[in-house]
Amino acid sequence: MASKAPDWRPNAACADLGPEIFYRAGYTRDHLAEAEEVCNRCPVLGACLAEELNGPRIARTIDEIVWEQHGFRGGLSASQRRRIVDVGLNDSEIEWVAESEDPRPMLIQMSKDLRHEKRRGLRRT
Ligand code: SF4
Repeated sequence: MASKAPDWRPNAACADLGPEIFYRAGYTRDHLAEAEEVCNRCPVLGACLAEELNGPRIARTIDEIVWEQHGFRGGLSASQRRRIVDVGLNDSEIEWVAESEDPRPMLIQMSKDLRHEKRRGLRRT
């Protein structure tokens, strides 16, 4: 889904920060907390997370590729994002994410529900 929304990046809380705050070698819990603190005060978290969940975008540098695959982004860790991608959000749900101030609690609950359904054999994928 190609977004026609205006570019939100200049308003991001990380606009003036390098990617190293979201991923660096030897990433620790303290680093994660620091990254989460930045995302928690980000006014465009929903748009950022929607872009991330909407599929891979064209990363410009190796740092960006590493960040997107392994780093903290959109207020979530890479493993949290992968579990949400597994939910298989449709276009209108991605749109809802983009417009939400903080869609994380609902998305995390959806991914938990999916894992619960899989464990109970209610879903094959
Ligand atoms: S939510 Fe996205 S745009 Fe905002 S600070 Fe976090 S990584 Fe940056």
